[in-house]
Amino acid sequence: MAIPTKEELGFDPKALRDKYRTERDKRLREDANEQYTEIKGEFGSFIEDPYVAENVDREPFTDEVEVAIIGGGFGGLIAGARLREHGFENIRIIEKGGDFGGTWYWNRYPGAACDTEAYIYLPLLEELDYVPSQKYAHAPEILSHSKNIAAKYDLYENACLQTEVTGMQWDELESRWVIQTNRQDRFKARFVVMSNGPLHRPKLPGIEGINSFKGHTFHTSRWDYEYTGGDSNGALERLRDKKVAIIGTGATAVQCTPHVGEAAKQLYVFQRTPSSIDIRANRKTDPEWAESLKPGWQKERMDNFNILCSGGVVEEDLVKDGWTEIIRNLISMANYRGEDTNWDEVPELMEIADFQKMEQIRARASDLVEDPQTAESLKPYYRQFCKRPCFHDSYLQTFNRDSVELVDTNGLGVERITEKGVVAGGKEYEVDCIIFATGFEVGTSYVRRSGYDVTGLDGITLSDKWAEGMRTLHGVMTSGFPNLFIISNSQAGFTTNFPHAMDETSQHIGYILNECRKDNLSSIDVEKEAEDKWVEEIIGVSRFASDFQESCTPGYYNNEGKPNPKSAQNGPYGKGSRPYFRITAAWREEGNMAGIKKNK
Ligand code: NDP
Repeated sequence: MAIPTKEELGFDPKALRDKYRTERDKRLREDANEQYTEIKGEFGSFIEDPYVAENVDREPFTDEVEVAIIGGGFGGLIAGARLREHGFENIRIIEKGGDFGGTWYWNRYPGAACDTEAYIYLPLLEELDYVPSQKYAHAPEILSHSKNIAAKYDLYENACLQTEVTGMQWDELESRWVIQTNRQDRFKARFVVMSNGPLHRPKLPGIEGINSFKGHTFHTSRWDYEYTGGDSNGALERLRDKKVAIIGTGATAVQCTPHVGEAAKQLYVFQRTPSSIDIRANRKTDPEWAESLKPGWQKERMDNFNILCSGGVVEEDLVKDGWTEIIRNLISMANYRGEDTNWDEVPELMEIADFQKMEQIRARASDLVEDPQTAESLKPYYRQFCKRPCFHDSYLQTFNRDSVELVDTNGLGVERITEKGVVAGGKEYEVDCIIFATGFEVGTSYVRRSGYDVTGLDGITLSDKWAEGMRTLHGVMTSGFPNLFIISNSQAGFTTNFPHAMDETSQHIGYILNECRKDNLSSIDVEKEAEDKWVEEIIGVSRFASDFQESCTPGYYNNEGKPNPKSAQNGPYGKGSRPYFRITAAWREEGNMAGIKKNK
């Protein structure tokens, strides 16, 4: 089939390509990821926990546990649950928050919700006999489900909440990990599972004068309800007499802006790059449908979504939402064109499908925003997956309020912060409060993000070992660091629905630990050759497309416009999550823990 003409398309692909390039170029900056300020020292108050009344006082732990899990977010919770199912009793979860939930513990800003369908996103629904109340659950329901998982699997027992790991060393003589924390704990663990989470260290823009502001300020992941009033449903009554600035227009700002806009006397939203805002269409769960669900339904639904998002074909799209639509469109345009597929045309056809989708998104801004100039400013000019797609049914309309102003910084961002407010485009906007919706660290070193280093065999640290890129077997273990397991996307399966991959990895770890117990092994470690082979495979099959990344507007997906040369190695398994899950399942099926050294 021929490539459609611009007359058939109703837009000119060349003109759009040029526009995308111009918009990207405006935003490129030499300091890329270095533009952000690490939150520590004088900025430390930005990450204090506003959700606990006080630090619980407890004696330091100096004991020994069988399994220590670092992180009480979804990864840690699922790992804990799967290990309990294998009969592991002596488990300790270490979590810096005052409760379980991870992302959902910290992100309580008004309007916080998950964009992935709750029926596939919330882990262990059948195990807990629970069906979420809406298609897209709001944060309080997700936090409450996290606590219910912890309670059901007795994970509160023995847990260290409000505790951060500060270091960990392998004691070779005893074959144990020795873990230290900021609560002066120093305890041993036979096995350690690290589930630090991908986006958990808030970041601030390195804007001049950021500390000179005399008004109130906080980061969205530490929402100050004392100051704003209200709760995660909104009704922020204490903002009624306040002028507020929100800096940032990513997925978080998109969700909280309508609530702040509804309450504040005046809201300025400072935009550097607009997000793409597609239809949300949330709806309550139909009780009859919930009643009709048959055992195994959640796994079936998760698989169905994952097949579609991986470019596969299913008889029925069970989730039927923005994600499956976007991906189906892109892939069907390219792949399923029958025998006449001309593979040379595929990239251009996919680009056209992308243009078409983004034209719809841009038209939506014009349809919903009354002021044509504001509508124009809210239109994203980049390819759909350069940034995270957002879905919302009232964000764009918020700019129709007289009390809400979009400050379009034309790609340059906020210039300066003064004692009184925010400067952009040479103009000072006086405000009472600045809310930083500026996201989380990505692309900084693993150790900086996790907050601790790990010392393995022969005194080698993980930061040294991974200085030139990650090295693992299946993304789950790394040689020289015995009995240590990792839950992350890197060198493992990536899914749009993160908890799906976390569950697969948790089941894999459960299998390995069970084998160790069956064979009474004191420790296991990865054989170097097996690790080298996996790293080679990861690089060989990587789908990291540096051309695509370079053509994208800067953001955390492309290391702020400077794609990392190690992205192929540090990225996920390039053939996709389904082949990855098949590889790990076949490895378990083989039954001999191939590539693992076993020490009695
Ligand atoms: P993001 O990193 O996506 O957004 C940060 C925002 O801050 C961007 O708009 C960025 O602009 C802006 N910014 C940074 N520096 C400046 C500056 N100097 N001046 C003006 N603006 C600036 O963080 P979020 O917290 O929004 O989202 C992080 C991730 O968390 C999401 O991508 C998603 O994965 C997840 N999430 C999911 C949600 C869901 O399911 N609905 C909801 C919220 C978050 P620019 O784009 O130009 O860099």
